Amino acid sequence: MKPTILLLIALSAPLCLSAPLAGQNKPAAKPNFVIIFTDDQGYNDLGCFGSKRIKTPHLDQLAKEGRRFTQFYVPSSVCSPSRAALLTGSYPKRVGMHRHVLFPQSNYGLNPEEHTIADQLRSVGYATACIGKWHLGHHPETLPRQNGFDSYYGIPYSNDMNHPNNQGHARASSDDGWINQDKQVKLWNTPLIENEKIIELPVNQRTITRRYTDKAIEFVTANKDKPFFLYLPHSMPHIPLFVPDDAFDPNPKNAYKCVIEHVDAEVGRFVQTVRDLGLANNTYIIFTSDNGPWLKYAHHGGCALPLRDGKGTTFEGGQRVPCIMWGPGRIPADTTSTAFASTLDLLPTITSLSGSKLPAKIRVDGCDLTGVIAGEAPSPRKELLYYSARGELEGLRQGDWKILVQKMRVRKGRKVKKGGNTKILLFNLAEDVSETTNLADKNSEKVKVLQTRMKELDNEITANARPVWRKK
Ligand code: MG
Repeated sequence: MKPTILLLIALSAPLCLSAPLAGQNKPAAKPNFVIIFTDDQGYNDLGCFGSKRIKTPHLDQLAKEGRRFTQFYVPSSVCSPSRAALLTGSYPKRVGMHRHVLFPQSNYGLNPEEHTIADQLRSVGYATACIGKWHLGHHPETLPRQNGFDSYYGIPYSNDMNHPNNQGHARASSDDGWINQDKQVKLWNTPLIENEKIIELPVNQRTITRRYTDKAIEFVTANKDKPFFLYLPHSMPHIPLFVPDDAFDPNPKNAYKCVIEHVDAEVGRFVQTVRDLGLANNTYIIFTSDNGPWLKYAHHGGCALPLRDGKGTTFEGGQRVPCIMWGPGRIPADTTSTAFASTLDLLPTITSLSGSKLPAKIRVDGCDLTGVIAGEAPSPRKELLYYSARGELEGLRQGDWKILVQKMRVRKGRKVKKGGNTKILLFNLAEDVSETTNLADKNSEKVKVLQTRMKELDNEITANARPVWRKK
């Protein structure tokens, strides 16, 4: 390879500055890892992230014993790309999973050749399980067991999608549906899958959060004597919303609140099991959400305040999510980190915490947050690209500056399409977390630098993108 080409790659590589890992106590045994990933829960939708309305005592307790992250991002504002990024430590575009969410009729999915967190940990002796919503391909070739997990129990795509071709589904969410929970369950034909087999159709979504918890408890109990990785992506609070009878509040205005409070209670039940098994001092629990709240569903959706907008957008409300990390004795208790961080960083971080190393050939976009988690180092993450829900490059955060280059929407007859005109927005997030003041006109030089940089980073990803799995 010519030196000039080498230089180009070095300059355009996503920037993770290496951080010192001083003082990190190496555990005697390999620690366990649990990732609890809720669906469409907003930045504000936890007591410890500012909600006055929703009561989350168990998650608040987890934060009290651990660390809150207030600048934690997912690399997409919708489900499938966000999940691909978490598990592979790579931008969705790098793994071909950037073009919006999957549907029951989709013919592609996460390539089993990708190296997921589960692949990494299984390669060094961990028991691995995925319990919950997968949404990275429902074909047997792309389900969790082909992507590093020993077992799978959950729904293969969103709970508002119908087997086998998404035809005939109900209205997405309504007060009437909330009030008549049992009737609403039957209006959706979402399957429940064990490993690769449908075991319930339609799944009783009223009890799904509780059953995921039961399975999670069963898994950690069975594996208490060996290292484990549990990926627990709850299918709630994605609409349509459901809770079991004993958690039901008949007032539809409280639907979303009721669902989050039920998730909170179930997280509490799971964490209690971890404590009862004597595993608290050797287990990391990371709680976060796959994207921002679905605001158009009003009280069936959440809240991202003080952030702007929500799911489906590249404003902060779409991609900055609540995050709690818990690991008694390893993560300082009752602390808040403002470190710039992302789900992209979990693969390298967990790999490092497990005392293992990623295979040399694996190229990822994540940074090792080990020092940040221990509370001893500044964040190695300096930049994050933003892509639209359909995978088009739309912005970059670099330090406190954020640029968005958005294509304007134009109406052509009955269709709304994105036109040729673009709108450039520039925000300083340290001074304006709500993205209210566009500073682009006053900072044309900054705009130029960031626009050049975001294209440079995206060009590298496009040039090195890996193939998605496709059904032949
Ligand atoms: Mg989601």
